[in-house]
Amino acid sequence: MQKSVAQAGAELARFIEQHPKLWVITGAGVSTDSGIPDYRDANGQWKRSPPVQHGEFMASQQVRKRYWARALIGFKALREAQPSGAHKALAALEAMGVIELLVTQNVDRLHQRAGSRRVVDLHGRADLVKCMSCDYQMMRHAMHSEMARMNPAFAMMEATHAPDGDADLEADFSAFRVFDCPRCGGIFKPDVVYYGDVVPPQRRVAAEAGLKNAQAVLAVGTSLMVFSGYRFCREAHAMGLPIGSLSLGVTRADALLTHQWRAPLTPVLTHAVEQLAPRHRALDTHGLPSSQNRQGASRSSGSA
Ligand SMILES: [Zn+2]
Repeated sequence: MQKSVAQAGAELARFIEQHPKLWVITGAGVSTDSGIPDYRDANGQWKRSPPVQHGEFMASQQVRKRYWARALIGFKALREAQPSGAHKALAALEAMGVIELLVTQNVDRLHQRAGSRRVVDLHGRADLVKCMSCDYQMMRHAMHSEMARMNPAFAMMEATHAPDGDADLEADFSAFRVFDCPRCGGIFKPDVVYYGDVVPPQRRVAAEAGLKNAQAVLAVGTSLMVFSGYRFCREAHAMGLPIGSLSLGVTRADALLTHQWRAPLTPVLTHAVEQLAPRHRALDTHGLPSSQNRQGASRSSGSA
């Protein structure tokens, strides 16, 4: 049931107009338009080996050596990625005052770089590393610089970039030297929720609070296969909220959806923004209600 871009964009614009306090959840599909590869295909199945699990990362030094050696190469793709048209369109919708909260399962910070402010980074952020013993934090690029200095042979390797700042590199990682916490010698981990890890309660609470104030849910570019995202759709369904999904593939929440657009993200979102923008400007001229919404938006700040 693929729809044309114009048809899906017009329907999405109407959906937003009818529910101008949206709770948005985004996933990897938004960032694949920025050149960041994802893990799953259109059927929600793994395209490649699943990512490292929290338990094995913490338990095994060999796993951490392999992880950081590959990240030294693969993280460049994540750092250099630019916001896509989909990120920009969602930032434009926030500026129109129609987004109550945007919850992202991505860890690349591209929503913030596109200008979105009402964002919860549900699964954390890849540009920070955190000591698992003393909570000491450090910017990831600074840690990578240290590790590159400690491992010149690895730093010069090249490999295909993989999801989450990983790289497709197989080598003997036993000689790799991992940079540990400079304060206590503890284990550094990206400030990212891994599989097998839990979403910190304050983020879940912030996401839930936004949902309580929303009129509808819009899922963008996500298969909702991960329970931490899917659970909000179940809650929204229980609350009787309409749930729309814009994505190329199937979602775990298909049975809960009231609206579904199986279509490319950037053109459809851009089309919807173009349809809504003149109407919002017209409202703005009279001072109501979108200028009030804008004050509301500028007052709030992101969670991360
Ligand atoms: Zn520490």
